[in-house]
Amino acid sequence: MDFDLVVAGAGIVGTSTALWAQKQGLRVALVDPNSPGSGTVSGSACTIATYACLPVNSPSVLSSLPSLMLSPESPLSVDLLHALRNPRWMLSFLANCRKSRVEEIAQNLAGLLQLADAGLDPLVADAQAEDLFVQNDALYVWSTREGFEAAREGNELRRRLGVEMDELTPAQILALEPAIKMPLHRGLLFKGARHVVDPQALVLRMQQRFCTLGGSWQNQRVSRLTAGPKAATVHLDTGAELTARKFALAAGAHSSRISGAGAEKLPLGTERGYHVLYQKHQNLLSRPVGWAEAGFYCTPMAQGLRVAGTVEIASLDAPLNHKRTNYLGRKAEEMLGPLGPADSTWLGYRPTLPDSLPVIGQSPEAESVIFAFGHQHIGLTLGGITGKLVAQLAQGKAPDCSLSAFSPLRFHR
Ligand SMILES: Cc1cc2nc3c(=O)[nH]c(=O)nc-3n(C[C@H](O)[C@H](O)[C@H](O)COP(=O)(O)OP(=O)(O)OC[C@H]3O[C@@H](n4cnc5c(N)ncnc54)[C@H](O)[C@@H]3O)c2cc1C
Repeated sequence: MDFDLVVAGAGIVGTSTALWAQKQGLRVALVDPNSPGSGTVSGSACTIATYACLPVNSPSVLSSLPSLMLSPESPLSVDLLHALRNPRWMLSFLANCRKSRVEEIAQNLAGLLQLADAGLDPLVADAQAEDLFVQNDALYVWSTREGFEAAREGNELRRRLGVEMDELTPAQILALEPAIKMPLHRGLLFKGARHVVDPQALVLRMQQRFCTLGGSWQNQRVSRLTAGPKAATVHLDTGAELTARKFALAAGAHSSRISGAGAEKLPLGTERGYHVLYQKHQNLLSRPVGWAEAGFYCTPMAQGLRVAGTVEIASLDAPLNHKRTNYLGRKAEEMLGPLGPADSTWLGYRPTLPDSLPVIGQSPEAESVIFAFGHQHIGLTLGGITGKLVAQLAQGKAPDCSLSAFSPLRFHR
């Protein structure tokens, strides 16, 4: 047997898994055709969003779906042809917008988010990456009374689930972030929240630490898997094979494209998201500011001011949609005043199951396979704890928390 564990995907989830397992003495290989951290995590809004327990699914999505889908000023866009070709994901997503179900999902996400720091901090210390973090709170702002009132029920649920936050008036918001120019109605300040100034650099340092500890880095693509109860054979693009006692599938939104693990039977979709970057406006804001109605964050980070967010339901293979980056640029100027042309634009792929919960657990198809994907809007936050849990499963140890809500079996009922 070549390895105790082979991990496919060197995003935040896969790299965290590999480092946790290597730290615990397993012989681990991490496999990715691209540079570590260069996938979706690289272009994220950079927030360690331990407060983000509300799923995108919500009863208000059902009532406002037509206007959300049709307005050019909407943070949501849906490719109708793609939606019609993927009825299972779409119908299941809508079924998970019921109030009782949303509360259940939020409760499960909140439970996992409470463990996020315990999963991430030891890896950050190990990788000597503390300098990549800024702890200066995070802010959500609403520009209209209607928007704030529509979010009230969700925010009360968030508070009941233990999230600490202060409600701010427009004057209090401007005292914190005087560069905001748009009309303001209310804000929420998440105290103690952190953000990362360069998520790709964070993953790279974790991967380097993994290699220093003796982990094997394989810069190749996993094409398919032959999995049995006691071992798995991982087939690489080059024709080479790796054998392992356990295989962790952490290839983000691409996970269901690796055949033989059983992931292709799960309704894994993608919520595409965008960012535009303004290099010279790095110091306009002092913390991530999310404009709730517009569906994006403005985050000061190493490369400049990143305006990141929105949701586009479309295929993994569809090209970048310039309407979405234009929307971000337009709204960012509405929020902050003239910014000049963006220096770059980016498209990424949030891996999303229709109930907005990740899949963490053994594949129903093979005992040797552990799934670790589907972290939707909060994978940067949850990557560390997911890695810790998967490393425990790979050793046959009891995980730090119950994984029943995240089991792939929920889609087999
Ligand atoms: C606009 C936007 C803003 C976001 N903001 C935040 C935020 O502020 N906070 C937060 O917590 N989350 C945020 N997210 C979500 C977060 O980025 C994702 O949940 C997270 O990146 C998922 O991590 P991952 O490791 O599963 O996937 P990825 O980061 O996509 O990594 C997957 C890796 O798998 C590799 N791979 C693919 N196919 C194969 C194969 N066949 N073989 C081997 N490797 C393969 C890829 O090359 C890639 O390196 C945001 C996402 C978007 C799009």
